[in-house]
Amino acid sequence: MDTVMEVTVYGSGASDAAEEAERAIRRLEELWSVTREDSEISRLNRGETVELSEETANLLQKGLRLSEETGGALNLALYPLTRLWGFTTEEYRVPSREEIDALLDRLRSGSLSLEDNRASLSSWELDFGAVAKGYAAQLSADMLKERGVTSALLTLGGNVQTVGNKEDGSLWRIGVRDPWGEEGDYLGVLLVGEAAVVTSGAYQRYFEEDGVRYGHILDPETGRPVESGLASVTIVAEDGFLADGLSTALYVMGLEEATEFFRGRDDFEAVLVDDAGTIYVTEGLRDSFECSQFQVIER
Ligand code: AMP
Ligand code: MG
Repeated sequence: MDTVMEVTVYGSGASDAAEEAERAIRRLEELWSVTREDSEISRLNRGETVELSEETANLLQKGLRLSEETGGALNLALYPLTRLWGFTTEEYRVPSREEIDALLDRLRSGSLSLEDNRASLSSWELDFGAVAKGYAAQLSADMLKERGVTSALLTLGGNVQTVGNKEDGSLWRIGVRDPWGEEGDYLGVLLVGEAAVVTSGAYQRYFEEDGVRYGHILDPETGRPVESGLASVTIVAEDGFLADGLSTALYVMGLEEATEFFRGRDDFEAVLVDDAGTIYVTEGLRDSFECSQFQVIER
């Protein structure tokens, strides 16, 4: 998944459980890698009809549902656009309006057919980048728990997933990255028990041309890197897939729409940082975010 995974597991049988979790993540990588020609996603993207594994079918179903719930802010069919901007190869460039419009037409007219795990795409090409790490981290956490692990910390890129509390019973301290700082610079610290904590932001991957910064999260409406006024979005939720999907979606939405969205749900909390550096924290995190100054988003 083009990132570093770190699994810290405490207790008896911990190393076996950690190895099993690693194998599970490698399997998902094989299924979903767009750079492997024989992955399920590559075959789908080439237009083949594919008998999907349970995991892929499950991720697709969850992804489509969340896409609908977020009003299309999350869109798993953006692969042609991420490729056009060079985010898949790191050969970055600013495409012409015509090129973007042509791919937006393809996006609007495309579709997925999914019946009993048999799937095929028409016009679409999938990119699971916004949700794969969260799904994988959740799956690993579930496996660790099944093996009797009571305390573990998984990190996968910007994703953090915990099992239980820390070994000594205290809460985990998860730093929220300063979008303008270096790795290891934090704006604040979240105190959580068992949870998924996922951050999205353009600072994680971008290129600059003529003094303009182009980030890797795209607005499915415009086909261009998001300019929503937010620098980062961190989601805290019970489920890793949900936290990952929502971190991307709320980043696309921007502060106002994200606030409205938050008020309509009860399955996550968030820390949002706008381009001016103001930090907004949803009500449920008021007492679990250590930070000198922030505004509270009431439910
Ligand atoms: P994340 O780091 O979880 O926010 O995911 C960002 C990645 O998801 C990007 O690098 C793209 O591969 C993909 N992506 C970009 N924009 C979107 C979007 N609006 N919806 C879904 N996936 C996206
Ligand atoms: Mg995400």
